[in-house]
Amino acid sequence: MIVVMKPDAAAGQIQAVVDLVREMGLKDQVIQGTELSVVAVIGDDRKKDRTLFETLPGVEKVVPILAPYKRASREVQPERTAVVLSDACIIGGNKVMVIAGPCSVESEEQILTTAHAVKKAGATGLRGGAFKPRTNPYSFQGLGEEGLKLLAKARDETGLAIVTEVITPTDVDMVSEYADCLQIGTRNAQNFKLLDACGRQPKAILYKRGMSNTLDEYLQAAEYILDAGNPNVILCERGIRTFEDHTRNTLSLASVTELQHRAHLPVVVDPSQGTGYAHLVPAISDASVACGADGLIIEVHPDPSHALTDGAQSVTPDVLVDMMQRMKRIAEAIGRSL
Ligand code: PEP
Ligand code: MN
Repeated sequence: MIVVMKPDAAAGQIQAVVDLVREMGLKDQVIQGTELSVVAVIGDDRKKDRTLFETLPGVEKVVPILAPYKRASREVQPERTAVVLSDACIIGGNKVMVIAGPCSVESEEQILTTAHAVKKAGATGLRGGAFKPRTNPYSFQGLGEEGLKLLAKARDETGLAIVTEVITPTDVDMVSEYADCLQIGTRNAQNFKLLDACGRQPKAILYKRGMSNTLDEYLQAAEYILDAGNPNVILCERGIRTFEDHTRNTLSLASVTELQHRAHLPVVVDPSQGTGYAHLVPAISDASVACGADGLIIEVHPDPSHALTDGAQSVTPDVLVDMMQRMKRIAEAIGRSL
């Protein structure tokens, strides 16, 4: 439920509501609006007596939260959330952000060359996996901590915010030390222990939709991160598994709009995992900006045919330069910038 305070409610009256929530064994989230404050009651409140709140001084009304994802829901927080990765990389504001870089960190030369190229093209974030969740155990698994060090070096040289995947709860602290944003991959979207561990550290989370998750399941799982204490969650549509085989995954752009409709969290699109083919990435990136995505995470490699992972879906830095110019015009056409 949401306890809506009167516009002139005093701080002590809001505190009395918070105290009662805690007495009931539930959690609270106070949201101070420009006009009035509300206290969201988080937890299973089905058997709790709403009228107890209605009689408290300063309370205007009590309304149920219908969505099962209470912290992510726009019913609780109508204003959009912006997630700060760095001074230049804020996802969820008017400016559409581009995070670009290789699927995996392969070597110092590869990551530094790519970082400088994507920075020059106008990206504000650098992606690159140091820990790769691979289908086959014999495939390249990533450079591990050495890869994280190379990413940190790339940040020192370029100022780009670093986004990199964490695949197990035991690595969360280490990845968090080096990264500005931890990526949770599609294969781990319902690894609830990992979500919880990521919720207990301070860095932002780029949380990908599970390849077989409905939006309802996806947003409920996002609650594990939010409820553990980390409000800085960026949702990422990267396509789902269907019978269709002309693309690696089936990428729904309607889900971007629907996620923004249901949740206040920013939404980015991954057109690389979403399509699987470099020739599809520019047009689908254009479409993502046009439909209102808050950002893009794009795989870029200086030599895609020799990439250790996902070369087929990686664009070159030159292609990224063209893409950025076109996406900028599209962003401006819908009243945003890029
Ligand atoms: C990736 O970004 O390289 C990746 C593995 O993503 P996903 O989890 O969406 O497959
Ligand atoms: Mn990849």
